[in-house]
Amino acid sequence: MVELVGTAPRNRASLGDSVRSDFPILSTTFSGNQLVYLDNAATSQKPRRVLDALVGYYHQANANIGRGYYQLSHRSTDSYDRARSVVQGALNAEHAEEIVFVPGTTAALNLLADTWGRAIVGAGDQVVVTGMEHNSNLLPWRRLCDAAAAELVVVPAGQDGRVRAEAFADAMGPRVRLAAVTHVSNVLGTVNPVSEMAAHAHRAGVPIVVDGAQAVPHRRVDVRELGADFYCFSGHKAYGPMGIGVLYGRRDLLHQLPPYQVGGGTVKGVSTTGPVQYVPAPARLEAGTPHVAGAVALAEAFGYLSDLGWEAIQAHDELLVRAAVDAIGRLPGARVLGDPAVEPSGIVSFVVDGIHPYDIGGHLDAHGIAVRCGVHCANTFVDTFGVVGTVRLSFGVYNTESEVDAVGRALRTVQPGSW
Ligand code: PLP
Repeated sequence: MVELVGTAPRNRASLGDSVRSDFPILSTTFSGNQLVYLDNAATSQKPRRVLDALVGYYHQANANIGRGYYQLSHRSTDSYDRARSVVQGALNAEHAEEIVFVPGTTAALNLLADTWGRAIVGAGDQVVVTGMEHNSNLLPWRRLCDAAAAELVVVPAGQDGRVRAEAFADAMGPRVRLAAVTHVSNVLGTVNPVSEMAAHAHRAGVPIVVDGAQAVPHRRVDVRELGADFYCFSGHKAYGPMGIGVLYGRRDLLHQLPPYQVGGGTVKGVSTTGPVQYVPAPARLEAGTPHVAGAVALAEAFGYLSDLGWEAIQAHDELLVRAAVDAIGRLPGARVLGDPAVEPSGIVSFVVDGIHPYDIGGHLDAHGIAVRCGVHCANTFVDTFGVVGTVRLSFGVYNTESEVDAVGRALRTVQPGSW
């Protein structure tokens, strides 16, 4: 059994307290304990106004888009187009048609690897990734390289969990066709120096894909300021619904992408034997009926975040990350991996000597506290630290310092278990 000593006095008037009532699910209890939801890096909870937007679309605007010569279909099409413009504004993309709606980050990265990647990567070429990638930004490129007889080059992360921009620059040799890097690590919350990396890549004539799944919920993302050629994220981690995400692509590059899935909505001329004429992006890349309600609700989620304000969100992340690092630091045998307080992104990963992460996760769950344990779909990155896995606390706008205190209290009694 480990003992936690002393708790510093806290200012509890936080963003978390003021927005909790926006999230109906947070009043749920498990075995008599009020839910403490700290698995936001896996998926966030949804505020009422996002849920209302989702249902509201079906109540008031549901019809297929772009294909109906009637007012309800126009209404639905307008809602979808408006959602695209909202996302364009949120990312500061230059053009609305640079926003492609996809099911999520994984779908966006597979789309890129299977279309653009196949077109530009050949035998003997190189694709560069970093050592901190989620499997969704590793395996599509790994598979592409295997199929093309190309080489996957990994710029490693150090024991501090960071990838150096200089090491990335050194990897930008003449055989590199593209680079794919995460913006924020889903394991440690470490922020990659994406704009420096993009500058190095561009100097070498290499386009850069950025996995923004963990960045978008925590910071204002400006794709032009970052220099991202492609930027992908999932709506469900950013207070939007599941099943909707975004692939941003610079217009000139996006127009070079061959169709991914083909079918309804992607063509202007079809015959069974002659040439098929595809429409330009984004419609060319959105085959079939899109998740219109999801797009509308995702736009609402961006509205919610912008109303809270990015400065307030980042200050909140900083408060909770520091409180968590502090609480874990007072736990004998516990160690936080990396330094999540440098540029807080709402993620803190830790290990405790002699206690398996799953035992810790199970123990916290018995107190109503939901966390993620294990390798977080980033097996190779977690291997870097020589541990079997970590316990990850990941915060959302509705989490509070009291909840961090609850984690600290629960951890006082954690013991090695049956894992
Ligand atoms: N990339 C990162 C950094 C992630 O954290 C995740 C999910 O955890 C993904 C990609 C995959 O996201 P999705 O499962 O929504 O496609």
